[in-house]
Amino acid sequence: MKKKAIVSACLLGEYCRYDGKTKKCEGIEKHLQGYEVIPFCPEAPIFGTPRERINVVMIKGEKHIVTDQSGVDVTKRLQGEIERFIAKHPKADRIILKSKSPSCGLGTTPILNENREIIASGNGLAADLFLEHYTNSRISDEKSLSH
Ligand code: SF4
Repeated sequence: MKKKAIVSACLLGEYCRYDGKTKKCEGIEKHLQGYEVIPFCPEAPIFGTPRERINVVMIKGEKHIVTDQSGVDVTKRLQGEIERFIAKHPKADRIILKSKSPSCGLGTTPILNENREIIASGNGLAADLFLEHYTNSRISDEKSLSH
């Protein structure tokens, strides 16, 4: 059976970013040779594309996902979508995530306080849940791929 790689869909050239654009990662194919590639984007299916930008905001010591302009807490909706994805794809050998995203970022996502000031860099919601679930997978972002 082929090894499986979960990859942020915008890195694969899908136009699924909040602004309707892609973040195609040139040369990613060579890192995915021999893998069955499973595109992952938790935001587009529930919020549509284009959509309002979302942020990771610390509220009472906990990470929440909040829409940028309208201030709606969408943590549960996004978490539900990510958990459905994990249930559908319980195993992966390799995971490549998009840096700085409130969903996909791996240590590079701006973490805001309630005044919307950046207080740290951390993981997006999907990265947190993936690290918890895919404990035997090699997880990185596109920045740490050697070209
Ligand atoms: S970074 Fe993640 S959530 Fe954002 S568009 Fe890319 S795949 Fe979707």
